[in-house]
Amino acid sequence: MRFNPLGGWWGPRMIGLPVSIRTSRGDVPGVIASKNPFEMEEEERKGPFKAKDLFVDVGLFGKKKPDALGIRPGDPVTPLCPFTILPGGAYMAKAWDDRAGCVMLVEAMRALAAPKRRNAVFGVGTVQEEVGIRGAATSGHHTNPDVCVVLEVDVAQDTPGSGTESPGRLGEGVSICVYDATLIPNTRLRDHVIGVARRKKIPHQLSAVPFGGTDGGRVHLNARGVPTIVVGVPARHIHSAAGIICRRDFDAAVKLVVEVVKTLDGKTVAAFA
Ligand SMILES: [Zn+2]
Repeated sequence: MRFNPLGGWWGPRMIGLPVSIRTSRGDVPGVIASKNPFEMEEEERKGPFKAKDLFVDVGLFGKKKPDALGIRPGDPVTPLCPFTILPGGAYMAKAWDDRAGCVMLVEAMRALAAPKRRNAVFGVGTVQEEVGIRGAATSGHHTNPDVCVVLEVDVAQDTPGSGTESPGRLGEGVSICVYDATLIPNTRLRDHVIGVARRKKIPHQLSAVPFGGTDGGRVHLNARGVPTIVVGVPARHIHSAAGIICRRDFDAAVKLVVEVVKTLDGKTVAAFA
């Protein structure tokens, strides 16, 4: 079966990947495959391998068609990579971008559940960020926030061949993004967040990425504009089946979000304008 990638999947990262097709009759395992390299011309073998050249093989043979297994056009396909704690203590799993943000949200909302607070907090799990920051538009309208903190992963650049210009490194704390392709954060909010990290001694690193973007790219344009900042957990190999994050960075990220939210009273927020 041919398929359409949802979000930014790079062809070589998909070839040979075990996957699961989620059908209305249950999950069907399979593998993403390409034309056999032994049958490729010299030039073909160099790639690039685009999604349109790949397919999912669920091992059917003879006269059986995919619908015999309940597979229909539009069924989602997900990579198979179980959550694994690596010997060095890092966590490996699929889709840390942005399941890490989802768990950060749950933990932060738990910590902020105490009855006395100076603000109202909406914890939002947005949909379809990877295909055009769509849920950020609807949830922005719905919550109409005064300030937005986007919980994300950051692109770790501490692996062989990576650049060092924007050093997102595992184990060095929460990353505070000061620039990406869709958002230049409100500088007063940015400085406030960095100040909280320093005062509370939360390990942190500043990051700037000239590519990519987050829900922040949409939410900061909501209504008359929303001071917005992106805080993230550095993650290796995002947009692949197996990403790697560090628990210490995750804990630092949750702590920073909680401490920042606690400081946001009316006077502080008004000063961002
Ligand atoms: Zn992403």
